[in-house]
Amino acid sequence: MVSNVQDLPRTVDYGPMDWIKLGACREAGRDSSWWYPKSVSDLQHAAVAMSVCRQCPVQAECLEHALNVPEVHGIWGGLMEKDRRMEVRRRAGKDFYRRR
Ligand code: SF4
Repeated sequence: MVSNVQDLPRTVDYGPMDWIKLGACREAGRDSSWWYPKSVSDLQHAAVAMSVCRQCPVQAECLEHALNVPEVHGIWGGLMEKDRRMEVRRRAGKDFYRRR
């Protein structure tokens, strides 16, 4: 029996995430809830969050992380969940045509 949560096997290797310290979303005054819109009324804040992401120095690293884990909630790398799902399909489609 596992008595300590640290002893549980890790199922996902998140890899090094030093880049996250440089994220523009971590700057003072940013409200992290903007990256996790829960209703239509939150979408204005989500739009601000995505504009912050577009100027973030680690946007590429953030997006790759979110696609690889995969992160299923919130805005990562400037993309919302549905946009990341589309990006995964787009990349899978490219691989499909490359293999032919
Ligand atoms: S891309 Fe967006 S969510 Fe990712 S670290 Fe930068 S500001 Fe934060």
